Amino acid sequence: MIKAIIKSFFSYLPLMALSKGHRFVLCYHDISEPSSEHHSPLYSTPIDTFKSHISFLKKHFEIISLNEILGPGLDYKKNYLSITFDDGFKSVHDIAWPILKANKIPTTIFVNKSAIEQDQLWVSNIVSNEKDSIKKINALLSPESINIEDTNYFLKLLDNFKEAFLGLPSAFKERIYMNSSEIKSLQKEKVTIENHSLNHCVLSQINQDSLQKEIDDNHQYIKHTFNISSKHFAIPFGKKEHYNETVLKSIYKEHKHVYTTNPNKLDSSDQLIPRIVLTNESLKDLQFYFNRALLKRTHL
Ligand SMILES: [Zn+2]
Repeated sequence: MIKAIIKSFFSYLPLMALSKGHRFVLCYHDISEPSSEHHSPLYSTPIDTFKSHISFLKKHFEIISLNEILGPGLDYKKNYLSITFDDGFKSVHDIAWPILKANKIPTTIFVNKSAIEQDQLWVSNIVSNEKDSIKKINALLSPESINIEDTNYFLKLLDNFKEAFLGLPSAFKERIYMNSSEIKSLQKEKVTIENHSLNHCVLSQINQDSLQKEIDDNHQYIKHTFNISSKHFAIPFGKKEHYNETVLKSIYKEHKHVYTTNPNKLDSSDQLIPRIVLTNESLKDLQFYFNRALLKRTHL
């Protein structure tokens, strides 16, 4: 009850109008109609919600690219924001980008080879097919259920999932991730493509060889396919239990900037770049997220 009152109070405080010189990075996944086959409250944003977010954000922020928001020369009298997408959903090409382009908003997409080449990102495919799947996924991803010495971690995990979700379709009727030509067409319009690992494993749970492969092979794939040397890496899942010192060391070999999903504002002392993940938030929720980030740091 008290929490609800505090939340409601902070949802109305126009902190962003009073306090300037702040930077935020947002993370979306899929933008789609709730009626679409793959739409999931866990990672999807309805189209109308996305449009309302964009007009709200345009009012409160100067929306710039990742390289600009991390670079020098920003005006401390303004608030800045960058928009990113994880996993490379096809809806970013079909729906989100046309909306952003019409509003002259730049964006970055963190991609995985397995999604682009096989239209498979095990976690998303399974998540959207089962109502209480989040509980099952959390149980399967808990450290006790995973043997970290197991070199076949990914395959084993997939088997575990198949067992847990027996009878569910392993793929959707229609392709849900962008293929390489769709990504190339976005690149021509100055959308930037960066690294989100090969298979979207929990990087803190795999052995050193698999870890390096997850990071480097996707880096090489992006280089060969899209002709860019990725300098930005978004940690799959992105919470503190999904990375550790070894993971970060491996990422920093080839990448300069590493992104989490800790919902904070970006401070100049940050080693890791925090991002606020959004799905179907109302504008009041959105305001609350920004206010909360301005008032305190969280580490989810
Ligand atoms: Zn992801």
